[in-house]
Amino acid sequence: MIKHHPDDNLLIEFSAGTLAFGQSIAVSSHLHFCHHCQQRVERLNHVGASLLTDVESVPVSDDLLDSVMAQLDAPTPKRKPAAPSNQKMPRVIDKILSKQGKAKWEFLTPSLDMARLHTGQQQFEVALHRIKAGGSVAQHDHRGTEITLVLDGSFSDENGIYNEGDFLVRDAGQVHRPLASRDAPCICLSVVAAPVRMTGPFMRLLNPFLSFKPL
Ligand SMILES: [Zn+2]
Repeated sequence: MIKHHPDDNLLIEFSAGTLAFGQSIAVSSHLHFCHHCQQRVERLNHVGASLLTDVESVPVSDDLLDSVMAQLDAPTPKRKPAAPSNQKMPRVIDKILSKQGKAKWEFLTPSLDMARLHTGQQQFEVALHRIKAGGSVAQHDHRGTEITLVLDGSFSDENGIYNEGDFLVRDAGQVHRPLASRDAPCICLSVVAAPVRMTGPFMRLLNPFLSFKPL
């Protein structure tokens, strides 16, 4: 049972195509698991399309939304399911992985491996994290907003337990300590706003104190 969903702002931006690619990967992956948000996005797509094609469109009434919902509901059984039961991974992740070759797991700690996803953009760091069954991740915070999506298994932290499909947003500086469930490893997708890296000769100019700090 999915308890954590992307908020409406994210879904609206996703539907409008204005959401950054890194974040779109997380939203799209959530939709793989979440019928509820799939329907919301389809509805937003429809509203967006009619706003674009019909400049003089009347305000969207509840009736219209209901009829859109009815239309969406009707053909569903005929449609190919978006997520066949044998396809565990969201398609977008499968696609990225097949493009870059297999996931290359890097050892981070005895309980944690990471595999980067090459997305061709630098705004967000996108990666898979695998926590061993019963393993924990050292308490950490992050400099940028972090989206975590549970792909397989479950984990918990101070605030609760998260299962497949759960979509979590943590702001920079929020400290947490995820712990995988005892019976199975947990694989998560993580999307972190990449920290600004200052390198080269301008670095000292911008921050003359940086050179005195151990890196
Ligand atoms: Zn959802």
